[in-house]
Amino acid sequence: MTDTKTIPVLIPGRMHAGTLEALQGLFDVRQAQGQPIESLSESERAGIRGVALMGVFTAEMMKLLPNLEIIAHFGVGYDGVDAGYAAANGIMVTNTPDVLTDEVADTTIGLLLNTVRELSRAEAYLRAGNWEKNGNYPLTKTTLRGRSVGIMGLGRIGLAIARRLEGFGVPIAYYNRSERDDVAYAYHPDLKSLAAAVDTLIVAAPGGAGTDKAVDAAVLAALGPDGVLINIGRGTVVDEDALIAALQNGTIRAAGLDVFAREPHVPQALIDLDNAVLLPHVASASEHTRQQMGNLVIQNLEAWFSGRPPATPVPEAVKAGLERRG
Ligand code: NAP
Repeated sequence: MTDTKTIPVLIPGRMHAGTLEALQGLFDVRQAQGQPIESLSESERAGIRGVALMGVFTAEMMKLLPNLEIIAHFGVGYDGVDAGYAAANGIMVTNTPDVLTDEVADTTIGLLLNTVRELSRAEAYLRAGNWEKNGNYPLTKTTLRGRSVGIMGLGRIGLAIARRLEGFGVPIAYYNRSERDDVAYAYHPDLKSLAAAVDTLIVAAPGGAGTDKAVDAAVLAALGPDGVLINIGRGTVVDEDALIAALQNGTIRAAGLDVFAREPHVPQALIDLDNAVLLPHVASASEHTRQQMGNLVIQNLEAWFSGRPPATPVPEAVKAGLERRG
């Protein structure tokens, strides 16, 4: 085993507690404690060889660390990390795919059912004493029965959602940039055509420039007045203002959202809507799954600094041929 204890690894912001503790036992962990990286001395910055983080790491931040070799991202969606700049500059980026797929897919099904059957509102009704005082909770106008589902982003998570939905007996279609040759679900080469063909749209696509505000007013109009939008991908994929307007004026019927454009800020207009179910980005947030994600972050850093290929490099790093150190 290579002794990694002398290797300085920076944790610029928050980190899963168990993972932070394990990293502190393995590396010479430096924490910026929420301060900008510029607040570290020049010699301290020059010593940093690895970064472990959840969230954002820009090209500007990378430029401040001249000897940075690897950024180990806690989370599968790494749209906050400039992986293109990293790859062009020989910096490895890893993420945490697969270990969270089932948890996120489970949560998506829960959010979908909650949205169409109003489960959290029905519970609030009971807790407020209304069942005893005012009788039964009103029948829900929406149901999963008879719905057809479109998935934007039939990747690891999208496919796990689709497999679960097969058990619910609803037809499934999808939109990706490229058609998959290993599924029989109907493929739509553009998002608007998918939205027009279904009444329930689930977003499981990554954030970033390629998907920014892809679910816009036209897509929501195509989804139609019985439409339900579920977003567990990234908040930036949906034009939030257009969604608020569509929920307010009945362009679509309801939405279930785990992600938002400017987290942790959630627009008051969304909070005020009773046809929206809102979750604070919890799709992978169980102790079990977060531990698995943390283990993968650690595994990737250990592999890299022992001269072995990390388990889960991002595609940009693979394309740049950065499989292992030097
Ligand atoms: P993945 O396997 O890479 O799947 C991504 C899918 O999105 C692929 O099918 C890809 O197909 C499609 N896609 C990518 N860019 C697209 C574009 N510009 N337009 C349309 N489709 C596009 O990733 P995953 O593991 O399933 O994770 C998906 C995303 O879920 C993550 O990036 C993250 O943002 C989100 N996520 C959220 C949570 C949460 O807590 N809410 C947790 C985990 C993950 P093509 O390449 O053919 O387009």
